[in-house]
This record gives sequence, C-alpha cells and structure tokens, in this order.
Amino acid sequence: MKAAFLIKPYNIEIREIEKPDIKNQDDVLIRIRSVGVCGSDIHYYKEGRIGDFVVKEPLILGHESSGIIEKVGKRVKDLKEGDRVAIEPGIPCRKCDYCKQGRYNLCPYVKFFATPPINGTFCEYIVHPSDFVYKIPDNISLDEATLIEPFSVGLHACNLVNLKPGENVIISGLGPVGILSLLSAKIYGAIVYGIEKNDKRIELAKSFGAEFIFDTKEIEIKKIKNLLKDKVDVVFECSGFLGLMEETIYWVKRGGRIVFIGLGTDFLNLNVAKITNDELKIYGIFRYVNTYKRAIEIIDKNKINLKNLISKNFPIDKVKDALEYPEKNSNCVKVIVNP
Ligand SMILES: [Zn+2]
Ligand SMILES: [Zn+2]
Repeated sequence: MKAAFLIKPYNIEIREIEKPDIKNQDDVLIRIRSVGVCGSDIHYYKEGRIGDFVVKEPLILGHESSGIIEKVGKRVKDLKEGDRVAIEPGIPCRKCDYCKQGRYNLCPYVKFFATPPINGTFCEYIVHPSDFVYKIPDNISLDEATLIEPFSVGLHACNLVNLKPGENVIISGLGPVGILSLLSAKIYGAIVYGIEKNDKRIELAKSFGAEFIFDTKEIEIKKIKNLLKDKVDVVFECSGFLGLMEETIYWVKRGGRIVFIGLGTDFLNLNVAKITNDELKIYGIFRYVNTYKRAIEIIDKNKINLKNLISKNFPIDKVKDALEYPEKNSNCVKVIVNP
C-alpha cells in the first residue's frame, strides 16, 4: 500500500509499504478514504517537532480520519465489512488510573496517530481497535466524518466548563476548531460571539449561528473588552495568538471561565491579581474524551452540513501540496487528503 512519510521538514516521500493485517481479534482493518489536514500536521511538516515530540524516524502524518471497514477480527460484534466509519485517533492503555477513571485522554501511555513514533493515516490501510471505530450514518460523508475529530475538541471544551444554555461565549480565532467549537457551544444552547479577521471565516461563523463577530481588521483587539461590558461567561481561545490570549481575562465577567484551546504561544503575561480578584477559572484542554459517538449523533440528528468547511481535496501523492495549501490560501478552512 501507499503511505506518505515525513522524512525531514518540508520533505514528504510516498513509499510502498506492506499492507497491515489483523493480529488481535478485537481489531478491524480499515481502507482509509479521507484524512483532514490539522495544524499539528503542518507544524510537524515545517518544524519536525511539536514541543517534546520530535520526528526522529520517517513518520506518517494525519489523524483526522474516516474509511470503510475491509475486515473485522473474530471477536468484533458491532462492525462489519463495508461499514463507513470515523476513526478516533488515540488508543489509551486502558490500565492506568486515568483510563480507569474514564479520562483516557490523559493516559500517559496513549498511542496517538501522527505523534512520534506512532504513524498516522496518510496511507491506504490501518488496523485499529474496534471500540475506537464508529459507524457513521449515510447522510454524513466520509470527508465530513474527518471533522468529528476537531468537533470533538469543541464538545470536550463545552463539557469541561460545564456550559449551560443561555450563557454567553466568545470564541477568538475561527479556524476549523474555532468554528466547530462555535457549533458545539450552539448545540449546548449558548449565545456565541466571535473574534476573527478573515472574511471567509467570519462569513462561515455567521452561517453557523454566531451572534456577532468582532472583525479585528476594523476594531483594535485592545478595544474589544470595552464593548463586552460584563457579559461574557466563557472564552474559548482558539487562535493561539499572544495578543488575543493575554486579553481573554479582560473579556469575561467575574467568575468567568477561559479555555486555552489554540496552540502557538507557550508563555503569557497574565495579571494574577485580576484573575484572583475576579475568581476566574482557566482551563487547559487536551484532545477529548468520550465524544465521538455523541458528535456523530449530533451531526446526524441535527442534519448539520459540514461540507462548507472543506476547502480542497488532494490525492495521497499530493500530501506535500495538501500540507502547504492552507498557508498559501488565506481563505482555506480545511484541506482533505483522500488516500
Ligand atoms: Zn487535529
Ligand atoms: Zn492509560
């Protein structure tokens, strides 16, 4: 089968490797059909590392994937050949305290696609444990099914802050995760505002029900706080941009919650006196936990159309172009590779 390997920064090689087969009878063999390009893939492609995770050996990128079941292990009951499925990319150890408490996203032994040394899904076939593979209904396309992964981040953020109907949420940075967090917050019954500068993204966010978007081409970031006037309960910071991250504590009202979702800036200067005085709660978020089934249900039952988020499709031979496309096209939202 074909697989796209990252050899070193900016260098992708398409190699022919052996097709995997089922060894554990709880696993399924999947023909990969769609894989979303994530910011983390682009990061590895450009830098060869994210923090402590360094690409030392050739690595297959890609973790937002869907496909069709080709074969199931003998013990698999709820999936069969031909099923269209979304694939949850992390396999936890199932034994540590975090796993046992149901917080498997925090499992220190998790094997997560496209995180060195674990290969991802820019390839034609994978073998995966059947309980991390979810059948999707006919009205969700395989391309859309890749968005269940970033949508899961949004749902997990809403769970984390225990978001309630009628609360006011502001989301800074309306890329794919920002827009899918917007969608999640709407599903939870929140009233959602946004901060963004790209016209295409502003338009998309409005189509997904944003109440109002602060366009930072027209308004200075520092002035946004004056307009929010003690209204915001929750901030989802999805941009990872320092200038926005440091402002978040001025957007929420007293007792407000802030979730740092976007990566990009590692260190911030935050006014701790204000955080204390206003009793603000600041959350980090790591991936998601127990969201896939619910995400599929939500998209299906609410007939949510995610196709508008997909900007362009590439075949597996063009993984390099797919990884470079978002930066060359500012109006790009999501790029999909179809192995
Ligand atoms: Zn992702
Ligand atoms: Zn574990």
